[in-house]
Amino acid sequence: MGAVIAGVGLSTESAAGDIAGLDAELGRFAEAGCEIAELSLQNMFVVAGGRLNLPELRAIEAVTRRHPLRYTAHGPLGTNFMDEAHIELHRAVCTAMIEAAGALGATRLVVHGGVWTAPLPEAELARLRRLEVESLAGLAEHAERHGVTIALENLPPLPSLPFTHDAFGLAAQVAAVGHPAVGATLDIGHAYMMATLRQQDLGETLAAMAPHIVHIHLQDQFGRLDTVRTWGKAEKLAYGTGDLHAPPGWGDTPFEALLPKLSLARETTMIMELAGHYMHHAADAVAQTKRLAGMVGTA
Ligand SMILES: [Zn+2]
Repeated sequence: MGAVIAGVGLSTESAAGDIAGLDAELGRFAEAGCEIAELSLQNMFVVAGGRLNLPELRAIEAVTRRHPLRYTAHGPLGTNFMDEAHIELHRAVCTAMIEAAGALGATRLVVHGGVWTAPLPEAELARLRRLEVESLAGLAEHAERHGVTIALENLPPLPSLPFTHDAFGLAAQVAAVGHPAVGATLDIGHAYMMATLRQQDLGETLAAMAPHIVHIHLQDQFGRLDTVRTWGKAEKLAYGTGDLHAPPGWGDTPFEALLPKLSLARETTMIMELAGHYMHHAADAVAQTKRLAGMVGTA
């Protein structure tokens, strides 16, 4: 019997600086049945120039304390420890994000990364992969001291992310770090799109990540690359293209086949990462997420 899901919830969509909006949003999350809220630090003014921005952090902390929720946190979408030209800045921002997450009581910090912009010779790619491993290893003890586990996320193949780790590549990075304060975030929708692109078996890609998973982003979609020229969110949903972040059941992700076989080794939190324009279905999405969380590892 593997680890089970230690709480489910939604991730915040309030605009940066809208503290009252965040307060109201967390209230709605608790009402919708969330046990956890993921604080979208990438949409908050908690870090300035790689340093903690204390006045804003304190204002947000006062709000988070008012709600009967536990927390996880999401860091900047731009973080990339394979971006050698800006490596010190990425490390400084992530250091401050860890401190912000810790101050807000978040037990996970979702970290992006693993992006390169052109096809690279194997030796050069290996060198940049090592740079990412060293960066994460260098942040691990800082994270541990702040009660935060860094959770490196698998990203989707999108025009804005020309090259990034697939599930096997990401699992190898986390394994190479080899520190308990660094694990993986599995975004099932991103894995679905990557499996389509690379013609991989989706179940096998999830199994590769499973030993390292500490956090799951649930979302539904069709695993279909964003290759049709469409205008707006509703058209993308109509065509079923791209990284939809739709409620469970709106796409065709085979959750019932995948989740029972997902054998987790570490304590794992689960966030329904619902796109803001689907929040009117939040309560139903949370109920579905709880049902799906109950299936994890039961095969
Ligand atoms: Zn993410």
